[in-house]
Amino acid sequence: MKTRFEVISRDDDRDLVNDPIIKEAGEIIKNGGLVAFPTETVYGLGGDALNPESSRKIYAAKGRPSDNPLIVHIADLKDLPKIVSYIPESAKILAEHFWPGPLTMIFQKSDAVPLETTGGLSTVAVRFPSDTIAQALIKASGGYIAAPSANTSGRPSPTTGRYVLEDMDGRIEMILDGGSCDIGLESTIVDLTEDIPVILRPGYITEEMLQDIFDEVKIDQTILSAASGIAPKAPGMKYRHYAPKGDLTIIAGDTDKVVSYINHELSQLDADDKKVGIIATDETIERYGDCDKKSVGKRTDEAMIARRLYEILREFDDEEIEVIFAESFDCSGMGQAIMNRLLKAAGHKVINV
Ligand code: AMP
Ligand code: MG
Repeated sequence: MKTRFEVISRDDDRDLVNDPIIKEAGEIIKNGGLVAFPTETVYGLGGDALNPESSRKIYAAKGRPSDNPLIVHIADLKDLPKIVSYIPESAKILAEHFWPGPLTMIFQKSDAVPLETTGGLSTVAVRFPSDTIAQALIKASGGYIAAPSANTSGRPSPTTGRYVLEDMDGRIEMILDGGSCDIGLESTIVDLTEDIPVILRPGYITEEMLQDIFDEVKIDQTILSAASGIAPKAPGMKYRHYAPKGDLTIIAGDTDKVVSYINHELSQLDADDKKVGIIATDETIERYGDCDKKSVGKRTDEAMIARRLYEILREFDDEEIEVIFAESFDCSGMGQAIMNRLLKAAGHKVINV
C-alpha cells in the first residue's frame, strides 16, 4: 500500500472542516481505511470506531495485541450517548472541566461499539480532543474514530508526522501532518465505571487537578509503583513499552552523584566504543562528558519535559544510540506522567545512587 503524506496548515482563519484533504481523509475512514492524524497529546492512528474490520486493521498496522483496547475519539458531546450505555454525573463534571482536551474517560459501552474496538471489554474509552485538525477529521469521518497512538507497538508514541511515517509507511492509507504535538504525552485515563474515579494512566490532567474536583480519587497501583522510582530487582521485558532501541537506565538520586555516576559509566563505555546518549536537563547538561547528550529543558518546566521526552527517545533511535542514561524527575503534578513513561521506556531499570 502507498501511504499518502499530507501537510495540513493551521492558519487561524482556515475552515478545516471543509478542507478537501480532510474531507478525503474522512472518506477513507468511512470506507474502512486508516488515517493517522495529530492530536494535542500524540499522533493517533485512526479508523472507524464502529466498524470491527477497521479496528482489526489498526491492531495489524501497529502489531498491537488485540486485547489492548482502543480509545474512541468524538468531536461533539452530543455524540457520546450513542456509544455508552450510561453517563455518570462524575463524567459530566469532568467533561465540563476538561473536554475538549487530554482526558480519556472509561464508560460502560453501548451495543454500537464492537468488541474489536474495546479489546473484548464491556467498557469503552472515550476522548474529545481539542486539536482542530483532529476535530475536523472526526466530523468528516462520521463522528467516531478509534485511535491508539500511531506508533508500532512498543516504540515511543510519535509527536510529529515524520515519526508516524517512520513506523506506518506502507501500512496505512494516509498521514495528516499538522506539526509537533503541544503536549507530547498520551492522555490521562480515568475510569468512571465505579463509584470513585480511578486514574488508570497519568497525563497532562494531573491527580491534583482531579482531587480539586472530587472528594476522592483513586490511582491504579501499577502507576504508583512506576512513579515511586523503586525498581524491581529483575525487571521483565513485559514491562517494556514506549521503548527506544538503545538500552535505557534511569539514574536517580542527588544531582552531583547522578552526574558523577553517569560520567564514570560514560568513560567505561567510551573505551568500549559504545554510542552513548544522556537525557539531561538544562541545569546539568554542561557537566557531562562528550557524548550524544540532550536536554529535556529546565527541571521546573514539566510541560517542556513532557513535550521533549518521546522526541528525544526517537532522536536516539535515529542516531543509533546503544546505551542511554536518563536523569530522574519529581513525581508530583505532571511529573507522575513523565516518570510513568520514562520508567516504562526503561523497563523499570533504575539505579539509585
Ligand atoms: P494508546 O492510545 O496507544 O495510548 O492506547 C490506549 C490506551 O487506553 C491503552 O493503554 C488501553 O489499555 C487504554 N484503554 C482503552 N480502552 C480501555 C478500557 N475500556 N478500559 C481500560 N483501559 C482502556
Ligand atoms: Mg500507545
